[in-house]
Amino acid sequence: MKSGLLVVVSGPAGVGKGTVVSRAREKNNNIVYSVSATSRKPRPGEVEGRNYFFVSRERFNEMIKNNELLEWVEYCGNFYGTPRAYVEEQLKKGRIVLLEIEVEGAGNIKRQYPECVSIFIAPPDPDELKRRITGRGTEPPDVIEKRMRRAKEEMERMSEYDYVIINDTIEDASDRLIEILEIELEAANKGTSANR
Ligand code: 5GP
Repeated sequence: MKSGLLVVVSGPAGVGKGTVVSRAREKNNNIVYSVSATSRKPRPGEVEGRNYFFVSRERFNEMIKNNELLEWVEYCGNFYGTPRAYVEEQLKKGRIVLLEIEVEGAGNIKRQYPECVSIFIAPPDPDELKRRITGRGTEPPDVIEKRMRRAKEEMERMSEYDYVIINDTIEDASDRLIEILEIELEAANKGTSANR
């Protein structure tokens, strides 16, 4: 039977991982994206059900209690979690399922699914991160500060991942992502493991 591939993509806030992932999805329609639930308020332009399922803290707690989440964390004061049903259903269909989550959640997934592939997207240079996090202009200074601190911590855990992709250009980074996913999916279907 064809098996799917579970892939965790992490990287510090502002590294552009969302863009790399969307570009990869445009190029390969076997890749699906797991939309997370969050108690964070939507940013301008974010769409319910596409970027996140925006829920209240009460609803989030209910999801935890009902075991509806594969993993969840509190990050910079808000809750984020991966809905279980969609991931399980898409894996059964043989799809490549991408979770774009932070490092703690990535570790939780790796413990539950040791065969999953973990990929860290890193900035070409650390100053670039500050420019991107500040430049987004949607967060107050204390949140920017928290996100910068967290970004530094996340960078220190890069070596826990199976692959690191440097996001120098979106085009190259998304091509590299697709290449990794195709090699890994083929290896999973052959029952071997790729060279990681
Ligand atoms: P943001 O608020 O910038 O959208 O996301 C903050 C961080 O939470 C990012 O690193 C993002 O990848 C991560 N994140 C988003 N959804 C989830 C999730 O379902 N689980 C975990 N563990 N992290 C998530």
